[in-house]
Amino acid sequence: MNAPPATPAAPAGSAALIALDGVRKCYNVGLPSEAEVLHGLDLQVQSGEFIALMGPSGSGKSTLLNILGLLEPMTAGRYVLQGEPVQGLDDAALTLRRRHTLGFVFQFHHLLPAFSALENVTLPALMGAGQVSAARRERARSLLDAVGLAAAMNKRPGELSGGMQQRVAIARALIMEPALVLADEPTGNLDTASSDEAFALLRRIHREHGTTFVVVTHDSRLAARCDRLVELVDGHIARDGPVGG
Ligand code: ADP
Ligand code: MG
Repeated sequence: MNAPPATPAAPAGSAALIALDGVRKCYNVGLPSEAEVLHGLDLQVQSGEFIALMGPSGSGKSTLLNILGLLEPMTAGRYVLQGEPVQGLDDAALTLRRRHTLGFVFQFHHLLPAFSALENVTLPALMGAGQVSAARRERARSLLDAVGLAAAMNKRPGELSGGMQQRVAIARALIMEPALVLADEPTGNLDTASSDEAFALLRRIHREHGTTFVVVTHDSRLAARCDRLVELVDGHIARDGPVGG
C-alpha cells in the first residue's frame, strides 16, 4: 500500500471528468431488429464544462446521455468516469457511482405525487442511506429556497405549476452534490418563460458550484447560452466546439 507508484500520479484534476473512446451502442443485439445507433463516439468532458447536446430526433442523444449516466450499457468502446473505467462494474457498483457522482433531470419531472416537494428532493438521500440526515434535509430546504420554492416546500407536485415541478426536479438532482448533471430536454415540456427560468437556474448552479452539465436541448436559443456545443447526427458527432465558434 505504501510503496511509491511505479509511474508518477497525474496531478489532481488533470484527468477528464468523462472520456469516451470508440463508444458504440447496438439495440436488440441478436434480433432481426438489431441496430447500431452510436457508431464509435470519442468525447472528453472536463470538470466544470457546460455543454449543449443537440441533434435531430433519433440521432442518439438520449442513448448517449443514458450511457454517460450509467443507465444503459454500451456495446463496445471505453468509458472512463472520474478516472475510473466503468467496464466491469457490477450493478451495485454502478448504482453507487450514479448516486454519488450523477444527477439527472428529464423532460418529465417524475416527482412522486403523494410526497411533498421537500420529500421528493430528499428521496435520493433516503434511497441511498435509508434515512435522511438532518444535514441533508437542511440542504434540501436550501436548494428549494435557491430554486425559488421556499414557500412551496410542503406542497405536493399536483399543487405546483409545470415550471415549479421542474424546479423541484432540479433541486432533487442536486441533493447528493453530484459532480455531473445530465439533463435530457429538461425544458422540453415547459413554456418559454418557465423554460428560460429553469435554464437560468442550471447556469446559476454551474456558476456557483462548478457542477458540470450536459444538457440535451432542441432549443437553439438555449444552446446559445451554453459554453460548448456537441451535435449528434445519425449516431456520429458531427460538430463539437465552443458555442458560436
Ligand atoms: P434522440 O434522443 O436523439 O431522439 P435516441 O437515443 O432516443 O435519440 O434514439 C436513437 C435511436 O435508437 C433511434 O433510432 C431510436 O429508435 C433507437 N432506440 C432508442 N432506444 C431504443 C431501445 N430501447 N430499443 C431499440 N431502439 C432504441
Ligand atoms: Mg431523446
